[in-house]
Amino acid sequence: MYQAPLREQRFVLHELLGSEAALGPLYEDIGYTAELADNILEEAARFAQTVLDPINAGGDRHGARWTPERVITPKGFREAYQAYVEAGWAQLAIPQELGGQGMPQLLNTAFEEMMFASNMAFFLGTSLARGAAEAIAASATEEQKALFLPKLVTGEWMGTMNLTEPQAGSDLGLLRTRAVPDGDHYRLYGQKIFITYGEHDLSENIIHLVLARIDGAPEGTKGISLFLVPKFLVNADGSLGARNDLRCISIEHKMGIHASPTCVMSFGEKEGAIGYLLGPPNAGLSFMFIMMNAARLSVGAQGLAQSERACQLAREWARTRLQGRVEGKPAPVPIIEHPDVRRMLLGMKSRTEAMRVLCAYAAMELDKGTRLADEAARKSALARAELMIPIVKGWCTETGFEVTSLGVQVHGGMGYVEETGAAQPLRDVRIASIYEGTTGIQSNDLVNRKLGRDRGAAMQALVRDLLAELNALRALGPEAKAARNAATEAVTTLRDTTEALLQMYSERPQLALSVSVPYLKLCGLAISGALMARAASVAEAALANGDDGFYRAKLVTCRFYAEQVLPEALGLARIVKGGAASVADAPSELV
Ligand SMILES: Cc1cc2nc3c(=O)[nH]c(=O)nc-3n(C[C@H](O)[C@H](O)[C@H](O)COP(=O)(O)OP(=O)(O)OC[C@H]3O[C@@H](n4cnc5c(N)ncnc54)[C@H](O)[C@@H]3O)c2cc1C
Repeated sequence: MYQAPLREQRFVLHELLGSEAALGPLYEDIGYTAELADNILEEAARFAQTVLDPINAGGDRHGARWTPERVITPKGFREAYQAYVEAGWAQLAIPQELGGQGMPQLLNTAFEEMMFASNMAFFLGTSLARGAAEAIAASATEEQKALFLPKLVTGEWMGTMNLTEPQAGSDLGLLRTRAVPDGDHYRLYGQKIFITYGEHDLSENIIHLVLARIDGAPEGTKGISLFLVPKFLVNADGSLGARNDLRCISIEHKMGIHASPTCVMSFGEKEGAIGYLLGPPNAGLSFMFIMMNAARLSVGAQGLAQSERACQLAREWARTRLQGRVEGKPAPVPIIEHPDVRRMLLGMKSRTEAMRVLCAYAAMELDKGTRLADEAARKSALARAELMIPIVKGWCTETGFEVTSLGVQVHGGMGYVEETGAAQPLRDVRIASIYEGTTGIQSNDLVNRKLGRDRGAAMQALVRDLLAELNALRALGPEAKAARNAATEAVTTLRDTTEALLQMYSERPQLALSVSVPYLKLCGLAISGALMARAASVAEAALANGDDGFYRAKLVTCRFYAEQVLPEALGLARIVKGGAASVADAPSELV
């Protein structure tokens, strides 16, 4: 049974990053207080534990079902979605001006962790609505907003992202779905694949955001426009009209997230699907990026969430499974007594906590980047948040797979059979490093755009700030000192490696792109390492005022991270500095 890690989330939220003094002034308009945040988290935990978690394993076992008329979600999903909407969860992080509650991104990240951990396949669909609402808000006419936004915001209608086509995955420039002008709207013709919740029975209408090419538009990404294509057309008074000319022709059978329907969508088999252009023609990708940025942070949180779920299962198993002997203890011992099992558990726990602080840090920068009053400070926070997004998405999802795999290992053979539930997080999380841009695409974005655009200025500013903070940390005890020293080494390594990478990039970009994933992983490790050192220092200081076991455990985890995980940063740096040519110069025919 999943238990929301509330104590840990409160630590990150209030003690580490987003104290009331830091977040309160940014969110004065919604009357943000620490107490309000705690109440929300407690309610969310209750919802995750009592509504979503109980239908998680059944959803995995039975999956979504396709019929010619509709796609049927597994037992309990419709009721859960209704409860979700009635409780107002859909509105939590949507800005107030769009009708949402406008809660901080930092708080939303903790909320999303619980939702994804308790039932990733359920929350995947609902989490898309927020990005859809923001993309519509940024691009639609007032009339379109009035017609479509309110119900999307409340969750009465759900949203989708329709990008992928059989021949256009990572390369959206290849997409072929056609849009033909027809009076005040367009008619769309084409096929989209892999569309999450493209069809389902949870909401009365589905608002598809579809990328398509208007007849005569330029080739490549410059000729892509964004369209709003409702499943049911909407009358001027907001009531539902005729069924639009689109349908789900099949759903995929896949490795995980079985309850999330992954749909092949066919648009315009008859008279053409009616779609409304959002924003100017050929500007579709920039608006879709609004949706994708929010989604990429969320996907990073999926890596974290499934890791937390795997940790809880593995810890419980390791305390109750009896095998082997250890000197001085009655045999057989619980396997947690074996050093290697403790190593695996600490590896899982420390990486999970590191992901949590990394996600939270990016979210806090996003809060500052949209809310700070001072323009220069706001812009630099936004640049930092944008730099962090591919790192959070790429590193947390890759690490999530490692952690959930360790979870199976802790269970031994019982991890490989489905009964224990240890395999589900591993299967579910595997997609996270593929959709919303693969890790390769994230690392391209990090190197080409985020570093290339400002020649590393935002990264070097981040590194400078982290080193200054590490230098100033009050760390006296052995664990906090170990965390600080290892983090200082990792961040200094990141600084030097960034310089080497930029040099490579200016001489021959292919070299830099040959090591961009190891570089992205180095970023994730080093930045999270610095945040873990901060956590160790905060925990150490808090210990002076008493402890319920939380701070001691935090120090144990931070020390393990410093001594057994962060040294990986040195190996990655070596790969980045010395390994590029082995890829760039390797002829494809010899690979
Ligand atoms: C369960 C599921 C749900 C999905 N949900 C949605 C959805 O809701 N909406 C939607 O539009 N799509 C969705 N997708 C599609 C998903 O976003 C794509 O699968 C993903 O972007 C990768 O595209 P692709 O599968 O065509 O792989 P490809 O683009 O063919 O990539 C194959 C490999 O080549 C690498 N590669 C490709 N191009 C480059 C490059 N330029 N540089 C370096 N490496 C490269 C990739 O990293 C990858 O390793 C979903 C997919 C799945 C499986």
